[in-house]
Amino acid sequence: MHTDTRTLPDNTLIEGDLCIIGAGAAGISMALDWLGRPEKVVLLEGGGFEYEEAIQDSYDGPGSGQKYYPLKASRLHYFGGTTGHWAGMCSPFDAIDFRARPWVPHSGWPIDKSALDPYYKKAHSPLQLGPYPYDFDFWRQELPNAKALPLDPGVVSNKMWQYSEARFGPLYRDTLANAHNIALYTHAKVVELVANETVTQLKEVRLQMLDGKTHRVRARQFVLACGAIQNARLLLASNQQAAAGLGNAHDLVGRYFQEHLEIASAECWFFKPQPMSLYTYTWRKTRASAELALAEQIQERHQILNGTVSFTPLPIGKYRTPKMQSYQDKDPRKAWQNMNDQWQKTLKKAAEVENGPVQWAYQLNTRIEQAPNPESRVTLESERDAFGLPRAKLHWALTALDKRSIRTLYEILGQQLGIQGLGRIRLNDWLRDEKDTGFPDSTNAGWHHMGTTRMHEDPKKGVVDANCKVHGLHNLYVAGSACYPTSGAPNPTLTLVALSLRLSEYLKKGC
Ligand SMILES: Cc1cc2nc3c(=O)[nH]c(=O)nc-3n(C[C@H](O)[C@H](O)[C@H](O)COP(=O)(O)OP(=O)(O)OC[C@H]3O[C@@H](n4cnc5c(N)ncnc54)[C@H](O)[C@@H]3O)c2cc1C
Repeated sequence: MHTDTRTLPDNTLIEGDLCIIGAGAAGISMALDWLGRPEKVVLLEGGGFEYEEAIQDSYDGPGSGQKYYPLKASRLHYFGGTTGHWAGMCSPFDAIDFRARPWVPHSGWPIDKSALDPYYKKAHSPLQLGPYPYDFDFWRQELPNAKALPLDPGVVSNKMWQYSEARFGPLYRDTLANAHNIALYTHAKVVELVANETVTQLKEVRLQMLDGKTHRVRARQFVLACGAIQNARLLLASNQQAAAGLGNAHDLVGRYFQEHLEIASAECWFFKPQPMSLYTYTWRKTRASAELALAEQIQERHQILNGTVSFTPLPIGKYRTPKMQSYQDKDPRKAWQNMNDQWQKTLKKAAEVENGPVQWAYQLNTRIEQAPNPESRVTLESERDAFGLPRAKLHWALTALDKRSIRTLYEILGQQLGIQGLGRIRLNDWLRDEKDTGFPDSTNAGWHHMGTTRMHEDPKKGVVDANCKVHGLHNLYVAGSACYPTSGAPNPTLTLVALSLRLSEYLKKGC
């Protein structure tokens, strides 16, 4: 059943068993998992089925620290969430990403990879991905031209990726709107989470309409699935019963904001042409491709973060405009279009001017986790949006470990290419000075928001527990990448859908 919340009489009370707030990748994956069950699921989506400027404006907010995308353009505020224009790159985290690594402060999940494995496989269904295995040996059989670079697998491995074309909005709208046990409410903007007097459970959530009407939703269990910035914003803004915000007794909500650094880092000059189809991705044509990654024992030996390296033909890489530059319009549709236009111009220019041996040369692009940093954080502004919700501010802060890890990655890769007689690596200028810990303004990020309600068994060290339940509130959960203590190298959505499906199963046992 679908209801446009704007049509309800003022002060309507909506009731259900499970209330999911936010219909993006996390919220929709969970709701689909409850189809046909006896419980009534209330799915609240702040936007409608299409982009609306008046709603999207709620995401606007200032930034500081390392240059970032406009907050307003970095997420989509309507049914389907940011899958409305994501790139669909998917790969699971590695086992090391879940471990406490002494050289990575604040690392360590309270669960290990085996706890997520069954849900990774299940997550392939809503994401419409191919077979679950991600090891190169499997894909070697599947991809006719897959030939790996002859590197020592004990040092450098092939990290496999698959590509989802799932846009959750158009894909799942009818299924959810027609489901007998799902009550989907669009234009249901949640502005407050209201706890009981002892602040031990959530009593209801408050919805605000732009015309001034308000409504309430009551349920036995609530799941916050609005994305890492908005989840933190809502918890912090819900300060009627707890002055610092809900779940924030230890000043952790909003802290440890993490992104993936995606940055052109070096040039690779092969001595002769190499078969590179395994490392090449063509939109809508490639089923799977690989990036290079360092083996776990090498990361440990060099005390660095987990990251991968992708190849862009050098003529293209040289003329490419950094995404951090081309994606700066506050309107996400224009930002995306501008980035795409710049890409087309780059392809044209590269085709016109370059030829010869440079075709055996590549720009090496790093994709790397960001070390958890409590100073990298989401806070609230005094200014409010049209719904009366304080705006979010992002201070994005990187650390020396982030920079050293990237540099070391290329030192090791350069040595390996040399040992195998394959070619040479030349570091980009911004990486040359070992003492310089800064990052240029052209440093790209993946639009991956993570870590603002980190998972830890100890309430003094995390906002949610191993089941994604907010510490201290027995019926409030968080679904999504906000729960990540560390961010792994791969893009986050496959993992956040897997984590949401794990949460879903947990709730089914208790609901
Ligand atoms: C340009 C771009 C490219 C990307 N490419 C990739 C990629 O290749 N691979 C990858 O893994 N990830 C990628 N991402 C990131 C990916 O889009 C996100 O990880 C994913 O969409 C997050 O899912 P989510 O459900 O947590 O949040 P969202 O998709 O943002 O969904 C949150 C939902 O909550 C709703 N909501 C928010 N606030 C409220 C409120 N107060 N009340 C009610 N509802 C609310 C929103 O309208 C939205 O529907 C990309 C992102 C961008 C911007």
